[in-house]
Amino acid sequence: MIALDHHLSGQHFLQIPGPSPVPDRILRALSLPTIDHRGPEFARLGRKVVDGLQQVFRTRHPVVIYPASGTGAWEAALVNTLSGGDAVLMFETGHFATLWQKMAVRLGLQPEFVSVPGTDAATGLPAGWRGGVQADLIEQRLRRDPQHRIKAVCVVHNETSTGVTSDIAAVRRAIDAAAHPALLMVDTISGLACADYRHDEWGIDVSISGAQKGLMLPPGISFNALSPKALAAAKGATLPRSYWAWDEIVAMNQGGYWPYTPNTNLLYGLSEALDMLLEQGLPAVFARHQRWAEGVRSAVRAWGLPIQCADAGAYSPVLTGVVTPQGVDADALRQLIHRRFDLSLGTGLGKVLGRMFRIGHLGHSNDLTLVAAVAGVEMGLQLHGVPLAGSGTRAAMDFFAAHPAPAALRAAA
Ligand SMILES: *Cc1c(COP(=O)(O)O)cnc(C)c1O
Repeated sequence: MIALDHHLSGQHFLQIPGPSPVPDRILRALSLPTIDHRGPEFARLGRKVVDGLQQVFRTRHPVVIYPASGTGAWEAALVNTLSGGDAVLMFETGHFATLWQKMAVRLGLQPEFVSVPGTDAATGLPAGWRGGVQADLIEQRLRRDPQHRIKAVCVVHNETSTGVTSDIAAVRRAIDAAAHPALLMVDTISGLACADYRHDEWGIDVSISGAQKGLMLPPGISFNALSPKALAAAKGATLPRSYWAWDEIVAMNQGGYWPYTPNTNLLYGLSEALDMLLEQGLPAVFARHQRWAEGVRSAVRAWGLPIQCADAGAYSPVLTGVVTPQGVDADALRQLIHRRFDLSLGTGLGKVLGRMFRIGHLGHSNDLTLVAAVAGVEMGLQLHGVPLAGSGTRAAMDFFAAHPAPAALRAAA
């Protein structure tokens, strides 16, 4: 065992927006014996997880599982569908959108990065990092592309660096309004199984997701959900691909197998996670995240600190970005809280490093873990000398007490 010297006793508070805390039920499933990945038991597991993922993505079309982090699935989406020099339209919602855009450059694509210019006066943060995708800007740009040079529109559903969730159905409508044939690719690495997501209904061609956020697994597997149009594009696309190529994986998945050794034990965990999510029903899972998010936001409002997402219609159910006052180093604060209270928070990434921290409220959590997390943040803010308008812990307690979870109401009936 490596020495985890912060974890002296009790449970570590992993309140980063992924990896999220892993339920015991999943940890136990991960410890099952590794089996023959060409044997008959494996085929049942393989078919079950693909079928379950289709339900979570809300698709009837193929879902591909990679033994890779989410970044690998980003690459897979691009290399399977595009050719060198292709123009792609991407939208700067935050750090993850920026990383995906950099990847597109490295792969020899020509991404055009739509950014909302300027700095937000109230916080000094980049204006575009306080809101979501503006579908009208995408529509305007596509209307100015009569030759259809743009081959794909790539957007992030839940921008994990800012705590903003974008309206993907609106992006689909924008592409349709411009009558443009570009593929729609959506990163829902942190959105899936936390926020409503509908691959088929929203006309998404490639959805990209990962294990360690809403699916509550340890990191290490990631997904592409496909559309018939994406599969057709793959036939003509010429970017080099081999390990990421969909064709062989999709063909072998029909029997429940993979062309190479899959991550067997993580697939046990995935099977368990899918059981948990589908037993509860996705609407209940989404409602739970919305409620937790509102509880945490009530704390941030009570402290008198800005929520990074400036658009109440785009608040993320997955995490909340908290902006610190000018001159307060949010990352030093985050480190203090980790040191003193064994509580991990997300750091500010990229352009907002030092200006904000992130509280994850996803996956395996409950009212009391969130009240405790908020209390840890509040103690840290006070120790760091940040002036507070009031007690966020009190506000979160009041919110959760006044808004019982539907399951608690059913139990009382
Ligand atoms: C976590 C995350 C990624 C990166 O996934 P990795 O598993 O770290 O490679 C990309 N996009 C979003 C929105 C994320 O939340």
